[in-house]
Amino acid sequence: MELKQNVWVYVELVDGELSPVSIELLGKGRELADARQNTLVGLVLGKGAADAAKDVIAYGADAAVVVDDPALETFDSAVYAKAVAAVAGKYEPSVLLIGATNNGRDLGGRLSAALNLGLVADCIDVRYEGSDDTLTWIRPAYTGKLFVKILTKTRPQLATISGKIFHGNAKDTSRTGEVITETVDLGGAAAAQRVTGFQELPPDQLELNLESADIVVGAGRGVGDEEGMKKVQAFAEAIGAGFGVSKPLVDNGWVGHDIQIGITGKKIAPKVYIALGISGAIQHKLGVQEADLIIAVNKDADAPIFQFAHYGIVGDLFEALPVLEEEIKKLK
Ligand code: FAD
Repeated sequence: MELKQNVWVYVELVDGELSPVSIELLGKGRELADARQNTLVGLVLGKGAADAAKDVIAYGADAAVVVDDPALETFDSAVYAKAVAAVAGKYEPSVLLIGATNNGRDLGGRLSAALNLGLVADCIDVRYEGSDDTLTWIRPAYTGKLFVKILTKTRPQLATISGKIFHGNAKDTSRTGEVITETVDLGGAAAAQRVTGFQELPPDQLELNLESADIVVGAGRGVGDEEGMKKVQAFAEAIGAGFGVSKPLVDNGWVGHDIQIGITGKKIAPKVYIALGISGAIQHKLGVQEADLIIAVNKDADAPIFQFAHYGIVGDLFEALPVLEEEIKKLK
């Protein structure tokens, strides 16, 4: 199988499993590879990489390149960048997609510097528009007021891509592919920073619910005050939903930034998003637009949120809360 000049995805592992954004990127990578009759390769590093290789193929890759080295046990961007740079130097991918996670952004920046490559950060879409292998990357600019198209001249075309944009393919364990183990000399990779220990902190319960819940309730400035926000939070708990807020509630110090929804907060893609007292500013919209169904309650019939909500109630959110709670509980 020819692995050179192809579409590559850097596959990030979390507790030995493929991270959600890696699965999404394997799906998008498959589409790009098919568009140019190319091979899709997943590059997976670290402890458990060999075990994860079969999943890389099950989610759409034709081949998995594995680098399993004790130096890669915990993420250290300097060491990881050295490993990825070495593999990229050998196989010369045309494209390398990296999830825009904290570690992915760190890795992307270091790779760009190490290999002297252009890097398009935090893309929300990518496609071929011409007839050659040049990709058009799309990312928000000016805090989401504009979307810009960016082309990169260097190879591999390197980009970090936000999560919850693409859906990824369903796992297909009947898929087969090649697994190649690479050995990289990682001596001397440690840079100015060095990870000397690693302690995992339990995720904040609210944050966890927000990211994984099928239903998310969002509270906006329309709640009036902190008491109003707590009523909305109690409503979210009563219907078993995750709870998030718009930026002004964080700015007021009522909750932490970890549950802010929007372009500078969390991007979510639940089955249902219920926006209560949220106007629907573009910076908020960009965080929720991947929800399957958006229901908005706002007392202003002209609020922008009604332009992208699937269902809307024009009225006072506090009057709507008990009705919504009763109806949702009946459905559940
Ligand atoms: P408002 O715009 O004030 O809207 C409140 C809404 O509540 C109004 O539509 C009103 O009609 C309605 N309302 C009032 N009372 C009631 C009631 N009793 N019942 C029903 N409806 C009622 N915002 C984010 O959310 N997330 C981000 O990540 C984000 N990032 C940003 C980044 C930058 C750089 C900038 C400049 C801004 C960002 N913002 C972000 C802020 C964004 O521009 C908006 O200001 C913000 O989303 C507005 O929040 P809101 O809808 O809660 O408040």
